[in-house]
Amino acid sequence: MKTVIANAHVISPGVDLPRATVVVKDGRIASVSSGARAAKAKPDATTTVVDVGGQYLMPGFIDVHTHGALGYDFCDADEKAVFEFAKAKLQEGVTTVFPTTLTVSHEELMTAAANAKKYAEAGMPYAKVPGIHLEGPFINVKCCGAQNPKFVRKPSVKELREIAKVYPVRQISYAVETEGGAAFAKACLKLGVVPSCGHTGAKLRELMPAYRNGLRHMTHFCNQMTPLHHREIGMVGAGFLIDDLNTEVICDRIHLCDDMLKLIFTRRDLAHVQMITDSLRCSHCKDGYAFEMGGLKVLLKNGEARLVEGNNLAGSTLWMGNGLKNVHDVTGIPLKDLVRCTSWNQAIEQGWGDELGKVEKGFKADLVVINPRSWRPSAVFVDGVKRI
Ligand SMILES: [Zn+2]
Repeated sequence: MKTVIANAHVISPGVDLPRATVVVKDGRIASVSSGARAAKAKPDATTTVVDVGGQYLMPGFIDVHTHGALGYDFCDADEKAVFEFAKAKLQEGVTTVFPTTLTVSHEELMTAAANAKKYAEAGMPYAKVPGIHLEGPFINVKCCGAQNPKFVRKPSVKELREIAKVYPVRQISYAVETEGGAAFAKACLKLGVVPSCGHTGAKLRELMPAYRNGLRHMTHFCNQMTPLHHREIGMVGAGFLIDDLNTEVICDRIHLCDDMLKLIFTRRDLAHVQMITDSLRCSHCKDGYAFEMGGLKVLLKNGEARLVEGNNLAGSTLWMGNGLKNVHDVTGIPLKDLVRCTSWNQAIEQGWGDELGKVEKGFKADLVVINPRSWRPSAVFVDGVKRI
């Protein structure tokens, strides 16, 4: 089967190609060409033609940090949660997602992993879930944010291994300064898990042993980490000092002010910035929606999800495409330069950089069509199949 995506404005890392034609064959991109070839494409028994009317065609988004949507959280002891969550993420144009856990009990983490496995066994009908992200429980109790301190514990390779046996763990966010934090980074890499520094009160010198052991990722950069001080630059300073730290950024203009977004996207190497949503179960829901998260009460008000007690931000309701639009609006950086931060960088870190995250010949046809006016996805392809 062949699909011809005609009249597409291709936005891919380093590429801005209006009026292009993308041919998809057997789940992969067979060609990307500019000009009038689109007009020549004729649908027949083996060829489907999709005219996208000049809308943006981008690599399907990869969200490595998101907790839920549509009222479902990945940590719910409910098989349906992953299905509904992955369905909502697909509507955002996310073609690959790492459902992210909260700081909860070991049993709850095991159940979440088992539910991800069930989704995989069902053939992953919506967004792909090649693995999960554990946010906590090995964090700094003083930097919990919206994570429940009751379940915080010391890094345990044994616990990580047990969970990864049920379903692949792609990433773990933990505090490097905790006991055994540096060695834990090495152990994670051995297990094929990306170790990430997050919910941390570390000083720069406390990060370095883990960095030397291979840690190259920071969880929601600037949020729940040591700020930059002129005599101790903390984790925020580390993110600016060390180029090859892959920094996750929540681009909802709430978690970070516009000036910080500008600072990050104009000063850091864009090859090491990853946009995430960190979205909660209240994403894709209406204002006034109230819920509990790891035992803490959260209310969605004016699009902001905050803890009822203490008013801490609990996470976001952001959609991936809107994050990209926000940064484009705030910084003026061309989309062809920013778009690597929504998929390709994530793919490279996971070892998929030669086949995922670009609209390029030979790459997997995980694609999203974005309406440039509303910034909502109007079509989404997974492995070349139009699922939305
Ligand atoms: Zn999170």
